[in-house]
Amino acid sequence: YYRRSWSSDSSDSVISSESGNTYYRVVLIGEHGVGKSTLASIFAGVPDTLDSDLLGGRFYLHSLLLIYSTTLTIILYGRQGQDNMIQDHCMQVGDAYLIVYSITDRASFEKASELRIQLRRARQTEDIPIILVGNKSDLVRCREVSISEGRACAVVFDCKFIETSAAVQHNVKELFEGIVRQVRLRRDSKEK
Ligand code: GDP
Repeated sequence: YYRRSWSSDSSDSVISSESGNTYYRVVLIGEHGVGKSTLASIFAGVPDTLDSDLLGGRFYLHSLLLIYSTTLTIILYGRQGQDNMIQDHCMQVGDAYLIVYSITDRASFEKASELRIQLRRARQTEDIPIILVGNKSDLVRCREVSISEGRACAVVFDCKFIETSAAVQHNVKELFEGIVRQVRLRRDSKEK
């Protein structure tokens, strides 16, 4: 099974195979409108129209892109109308989290801190890979959150930081490769 949607020549880094893969659940959380679906659909090659109607249509599941022979199931949290039950569920199921804000929307940046706190509370004892993602980096003129603020926030969050643009597909591949790498690093160190 093979699906690829990078528009650039990234074929080397996207490897797929039929079976025997490890499944990682990467959960994207963030305010409505920050670009989670867009990021996920670039990555998974799943158009928005194929969003599953799991849990009454409020829960989005993008999956099945194999990267480093790893299948990522991507779950989006932060659609309009999602209730607490789904939120709690999302906070529990992820093997890794992308906390996404828009660099053009300070409120979404503040929301990211809130989500980090909720995540810490939900998974107190676990060392879960997290990347703080400042999306919409193409919208330079509308920027409300500077790169240094993003970086500083990631230091407080104790996580990695990246700015992406889903619109021009800048750093999106790096983002997903980065999260896979982190999940693997943690798994490997646990096995030792
Ligand atoms: P979600 O609610 O977090 O899933 O956000 P969506 O993925 O639905 O994106 C919300 C809007 O922002 C859509 O109109 C997207 O086309 C737009 N968008 C998403 N990512 C980017 C980006 O990197 N740059 C720009 N300019 N627009 C973006």
